[in-house]
Amino acid sequence: MSNKILIVEDSLLQRQILIKWLTKHSYTCIIANDAQEAREIIAKESIEVVLLDWELPDGSGIDLIKEILSSSPTGWLPIIMVTSHSEPEKIKEAIEAGATDFIRKPAEEIELLARIYSALRIKFLQDQLRDTAIRDPLTGLYNRRYMEERVDQEFQRCKRHSHPLSIAMIDIDFFKSVNDTYGHDVGDVVLKLLANELKTRLRKSDILSRFGGEEFVIVFPETANIDAKHVLDKIREAITQIPIHSDDQKEFHISFSGGVTGGDLEHVAHPSELLKIADKNLYEAKHQGRNRVILS
Ligand code: GH3
Ligand code: MG
Ligand code: MG
Ligand code: MG
Repeated sequence: MSNKILIVEDSLLQRQILIKWLTKHSYTCIIANDAQEAREIIAKESIEVVLLDWELPDGSGIDLIKEILSSSPTGWLPIIMVTSHSEPEKIKEAIEAGATDFIRKPAEEIELLARIYSALRIKFLQDQLRDTAIRDPLTGLYNRRYMEERVDQEFQRCKRHSHPLSIAMIDIDFFKSVNDTYGHDVGDVVLKLLANELKTRLRKSDILSRFGGEEFVIVFPETANIDAKHVLDKIREAITQIPIHSDDQKEFHISFSGGVTGGDLEHVAHPSELLKIADKNLYEAKHQGRNRVILS
């Protein structure tokens, strides 16, 4: 798949030159005529580098930098300012505002390509770093830090639109005895297996994290709590059927308990309230005998 470059430029001539060079070198060009179009594209396309004109019909490119950086789905994007401003103060201003690099108009083909190459290299490293920071290495699921960020975001978004949002907390039953009986390595295999089952059985829009040792938190945006419970119960039943083998080929099975809450957010002020209730319901599920999901 070729790298997507967003060109934010109102001059037709300038655009044509950039498009010609970039397509010749197999980049995919996406065009925005002004700041508003740029905003819309950033939000829905996975852009890898932005070429940003300083003067736009509906504002200054400089003012757009912060917005681009914060609204990019990966939290960051390399931005190369392309402008006829050539004073060093302007370069300083652009870099301080968050631009990665700077090209003076008229751009030259080789220089443009070199700068894009460098921007892509930074993007690659940045993405790797971010992935390491937000994922749990054992299961590949999101970690607790990322989940806490996302819970806040999704909560605000659903509440603003008066849409439902549900949260579940699940915990493997008697997991300590899996470790004690079959060894820690088999315990790790069980964690990976459950993570995979959850990942493949949940919807793409659900957000799944390993919240702690053998505890997982799932956010179900746009989902009533009864539906979230139903989904979890189906996964729970499927999990208990999966045969797991120890190193000496003994077969065993696992189960989990879960607590679900949420749905209508009208009377919920903060997402931490939901996490607290999900945890309480999980505790109740354990108390009632495990291998069940409690909703309240
Ligand atoms: P309950 O049904 O009440 O949840 O019982 P439990 O044994 O699952 O609960 P407990 O909290 O006592 O045990 C959790 C265990 O999870 C203890 C810890 O050794 C294990 N654990 C936590 N993280 C990991 C991990 O990364 N790998 C393995 N193998 N075990 C882990
Ligand atoms: Mg312009
Ligand atoms: Mg636990
Ligand atoms: Mg447990």
